[in-house]
Amino acid sequence: MTNAMKITEEQSLMVDTIRKVTEEKFKPRAAEISETGEFPMENIKLLGDLGILGISIPEEYGGSDGTVMDAVLILEEIAKGCYITAMAALGEIGVQTKAIVAYGTEEQKHKYLPRIARGDAILAICITEPDTGSDAAQMKTNAVLKGNKYIVNGTKTMISRAEVADLFLLFTRFEGEEGYKGIGCLLVDKDTLGLQVKQGFKTMGGEYLWEVVLEDCEVPVENVLVRENGFKKLMSGFNTQRCLNPAITLGLAEGAFNEALRFTKEREQFGQKISDFQGIQWMLAEMYTEIEASKALLYKAAMNAGKGFSDQLEASTAKFFTNEMAIRVTNKALQLHGGYGYTKEYPVERMVRGARFGALGGGTSEIQKNVIAKKLLNADRIY
Ligand SMILES: Cc1cc2nc3c(=O)[nH]c(=O)nc-3n(C[C@H](O)[C@H](O)[C@H](O)COP(=O)(O)OP(=O)(O)OC[C@H]3O[C@@H](n4cnc5c(N)ncnc54)[C@H](O)[C@@H]3O)c2cc1C
Repeated sequence: MTNAMKITEEQSLMVDTIRKVTEEKFKPRAAEISETGEFPMENIKLLGDLGILGISIPEEYGGSDGTVMDAVLILEEIAKGCYITAMAALGEIGVQTKAIVAYGTEEQKHKYLPRIARGDAILAICITEPDTGSDAAQMKTNAVLKGNKYIVNGTKTMISRAEVADLFLLFTRFEGEEGYKGIGCLLVDKDTLGLQVKQGFKTMGGEYLWEVVLEDCEVPVENVLVRENGFKKLMSGFNTQRCLNPAITLGLAEGAFNEALRFTKEREQFGQKISDFQGIQWMLAEMYTEIEASKALLYKAAMNAGKGFSDQLEASTAKFFTNEMAIRVTNKALQLHGGYGYTKEYPVERMVRGARFGALGGGTSEIQKNVIAKKLLNADRIY
């Protein structure tokens, strides 16, 4: 890290606090909740009590008004010890909350943000549909105005945290208007008539994803979060999410590296520590270099974002590289454990599984490369 990219003393203290909590409270149950798939409500409440969940929320709404970099450091540190807790916290720290902060009415902000900061309101974001994943602009869910309510019909799928969510940020088309211009977002409370959380899909990372069905779901007009330019605004928010999703995979890669370093210094074969073999040393050197390269890209994108939204090119580059790096590095860490790495006796297999999510969720690696290439081709000059 160059001096310009050094974290502040305040951030360093925050990281120490999260490291302690992760080691003492989250890590001991990480293997168990990865198997059961339960939502780590206790951990989220604890993060709420510590003021961590309010990092993306201004002070006047009960938050601590932090930066994107603060959020990256938090998720990175939690993910080193417990992937499931990091994914759960992403809901409160991530794009959902930032969208309410950026686009919500005063009434909406006062109603939801203090609860989110305390860990009393879990958020789900509903974009993906059975037939529209990467091509989200083709979503079919539709909201039609009837009196003072929108009547919404559609199906969302692969939704994180839906089984425990108090509030759903529901992306929908309005009045059947075609193309991306017709898309906006509604805030839907969990007990709204016509909203149902249906089938759960257990993921290889351990958490569940859920199908959310809207059947004549009645949403009051005052719950419109974004209407005009909704899709464009959604994408601006997503640039920031593209820093937060790789913060989790970066943490997993670092966690796996720590495990591999410890193991190779303890394990003996052919009469010596396996870390004494040059081949093993080179693997460790390669893993470390890849982690540091990712960190440089990600921290740059996050630091440049300040308290706002990330730059699209920086965020997509960081997301693409970090998520692919984490797949390589966690796999190498497993390899360094030999057969033991493949068993559930060691945490590294869990880290391999968790790291696989990054290149899929929040825009796949292929979509990031499309974004990067488009930016490059549209520029007059890059270097
Ligand atoms: C752990 C996890 C959590 C998630 N949480 C949520 C959530 O909370 N809310 C939500 O709305 N969604 C969520 N998703 C869904 C996620 O956003 C989608 O999986 C993602 O957008 C990709 O869509 P898809 O799965 O339909 O794949 P598809 O879009 O069908 O893609 C299939 C393959 O084709 C490739 N592809 C598609 N288009 C192109 C192209 N133009 N050029 C090159 N290749 C292309 C993709 O990269 C991929 O390899 C989550 C997913 C995961 C894995």
